Amino acid sequence: MGCPCFKSEESSEQVSLIQKESPSLSRESTSVSDLKLSPDDFQMVKMLGKGSFGKVILVLKKGTEKYYAMKVLKKSVIKEKDQISHTLNERMILEDVRCPFIVPLRFSFQTDEKLYMVMEYMSGGELFFHLKKSGRFTEARARFYAAEIILALECLHSKGIVYRDLKPENVLLGLDGHIKLTDFGLSKMGLSLENPKTYTCCGTPEYLAPEIIKNEGHGQAVDFWGLGVLLYEMISGTAPFWAKTRDEMYHNVLHNEVDMKLYFSKAAKDLLSKLLQVDPNKRLANFKEIKEHAFFKGIDWDAYMRKSVNAPFKPRIANSVDLRNFDAQFTNEPAGDSLETKGVIEGHKFPGFTYTDPNYLA
Ligand code: AMP
Repeated sequence: MGCPCFKSEESSEQVSLIQKESPSLSRESTSVSDLKLSPDDFQMVKMLGKGSFGKVILVLKKGTEKYYAMKVLKKSVIKEKDQISHTLNERMILEDVRCPFIVPLRFSFQTDEKLYMVMEYMSGGELFFHLKKSGRFTEARARFYAAEIILALECLHSKGIVYRDLKPENVLLGLDGHIKLTDFGLSKMGLSLENPKTYTCCGTPEYLAPEIIKNEGHGQAVDFWGLGVLLYEMISGTAPFWAKTRDEMYHNVLHNEVDMKLYFSKAAKDLLSKLLQVDPNKRLANFKEIKEHAFFKGIDWDAYMRKSVNAPFKPRIANSVDLRNFDAQFTNEPAGDSLETKGVIEGHKFPGFTYTDPNYLA
């Protein structure tokens, strides 16, 4: 298979181009640049999870009673793995895309050694955690999450962003039971009608769209494929193309070997067969059409957007530091943001990384 997954996507020249071309990154910070924060402004409480390049820690902002999720990335690792533009993309997307279904960024700052992104804390944990616990969801519950994910994707696509990493680990729940997407490290910005495709192969093997595996260039249709995979997994409890080896998974994806004998209603089968269409040109990849599909019959999309629809399930916690909705594998690890100085990239500043949401200072 020709997919160069998880390899570097950008040269340092491309990175500096991104920095030069992007208006938001060409200036250091927003209008509140005098309000820069540092790690000392936060008390580390517990580790929440780990991503491919860093960890996420529950923190309390000192002098307040506000908890946040703080993503910490080591500059040396980001540089070593050629993730500089991915990281800057993530930081920009989090600031720029304000949508009820995307985790909002509250602050970001850097030290010589590390990058910090402080986001709203989603105390309900990953959708993955709840799916594992329930085995599978009813179609009504899956429909609710799928509808909110569609609205999140619509926000992203309208800004020329492809998410590319839709999976139950990246869908987080709030205490109100509504979802928000997180982890924009693999998202791609700047796609438009004139420039609709990118050629970087990235994503998680089980969720990769056929055109990414074939390295044919891909566009926003990959997120509709991802939605199909996630919807299938929510309803049946297993990912549709899962296999023991990566090559077997790729084979299953490319030959669309999906078993829909059990669990699925007629409308769900019809929608999944349209989303899990190997040829992206034949795939259902249009927001108007998907919203009108029989699977979503009766949904008031405006009410969903306003979040005035009751969630089918509300996670519970006893207090702000109750981490029952997170995997103990992470929460048992020390939360400390280590102070070691190895890994400092001499003189390597990430211009424009700093951000402060003035509404959240006190
Ligand atoms: P990421 O590196 O963004 O994939 O994050 C790794 C893990 O940290 C996620 O899968 C979640 O379990 C957790 N996490 C990330 N962001 C948040 C957040 N805003 N609130 C709560 N947990 C989070």
